[in-house]
Amino acid sequence: MAPLENDVNLSAASLPVYGPALGDQEIANLAECIRTGQLIHGPFVTEFERKIAEFVGHAHGVGTNSGTAALHIALLLAGVKPGDEVLINTLTFIAPANAITYVGAHPVFIDAELDTWQLDPLRLQSFLEVSCRWDGVRLVNATTGRPVTAIVLVHFLGVPGDLDAVCALADRYNLRLIEDAAQALGTEHRGRRVGGVGPIGCFSFYGNKLITAGGGGMIVTSDAEWAARARYLVNQAKDDPVETLHNNIGYNYRMTNLHGAIGCAQFERIDRHIEAKRRIARRYAEGLADLPGVSLVSEPDDAFFTFWLSSIRVDPALFGMTAREILAAVAPLGIQTIPLYQPLHLSKAHAGARCEGGEVAELLAQQCLSLPSSVDLAPEDQDRVIGAIRALAAEASPRASAA
Ligand SMILES: *Cc1c(COP(=O)(O)O)cnc(C)c1O
Repeated sequence: MAPLENDVNLSAASLPVYGPALGDQEIANLAECIRTGQLIHGPFVTEFERKIAEFVGHAHGVGTNSGTAALHIALLLAGVKPGDEVLINTLTFIAPANAITYVGAHPVFIDAELDTWQLDPLRLQSFLEVSCRWDGVRLVNATTGRPVTAIVLVHFLGVPGDLDAVCALADRYNLRLIEDAAQALGTEHRGRRVGGVGPIGCFSFYGNKLITAGGGGMIVTSDAEWAARARYLVNQAKDDPVETLHNNIGYNYRMTNLHGAIGCAQFERIDRHIEAKRRIARRYAEGLADLPGVSLVSEPDDAFFTFWLSSIRVDPALFGMTAREILAAVAPLGIQTIPLYQPLHLSKAHAGARCEGGEVAELLAQQCLSLPSSVDLAPEDQDRVIGAIRALAAEASPRASAA
């Protein structure tokens, strides 16, 4: 397994939490780019855009060089202005919150739900009802006086956010909805793939995602004008096919053909990747759910989650050890585990931002641990992870009952 650059301890761990699964088709597609000299612009980007858009049920896809860039452009398409406030999960990767600041807007963080770990729609509702007021045409935060104009709903760890509740609130309060489905490609909400339910969805193809393009992202939408605008903005807002004319500030955010080539090759295996992630999640549930203090996010009978990462929640009072003690105990066995993200309302990068609630996200960030979840994780290797955690429970539980 090739190590990923930005992840500490990954190269040391023989069983990493995530890593790409690559094959010969990726090599063949990259060789094709080099043979044709089409490194930047080329047919693989167009093909990858068409495949992802069709897969999630939107008419258009616009490739970008990262998921973060896709979110930045999506916020511009949604018309978010400097000084606006945008609502977002506090328990998530920092990229979407950073993108909110790129357009000069302010994130307002919303707590997580204890059972699903997703944005809590009741907290969202209470913020909108209690802390905001209508000033005739728009919603404003009564405390700050700033317009509240959009929601970024992050589908966290391959589990869908509550789209029914969030879409209803977005409609009622006239808020734009952007789905950040970077961790949830293939996950369904009532039979529709997430990222394809709201008016704009964003994906990432970073090295650790369900499928990778070696970096890259995509905006998906069914609005032809938004798609054209996105394509224009990611290409430096070039206004003439011949002359180098620019009437607006644009960005160098386009996806390259090299990345599209890897993405197309990966897409051919997407069903297998999804199946593998779901199989891994099921095996962990079967192997760990009976341990004292251990809980997992469960999939209702009629749902389809891709479980990008398999994670457990550990109540130390019942298990006898904290999540971070487990992390330290299994690391010498070559088993990598990682805590969830620091809740963003605690991040110095977003100091001063308001959070509606936050205690649940803080508890989950303390108690949860993501386990090896690579697509090519062998069942016997996964059993080694399960065995190691069961052995810790057997050692630790007596300590808990004696306490
Ligand atoms: C990975 C990720 C992103 C950003 O993607 P990059 O391609 O790394 O810029 C955005 N949001 C979430 C939830 C992610 O997990």
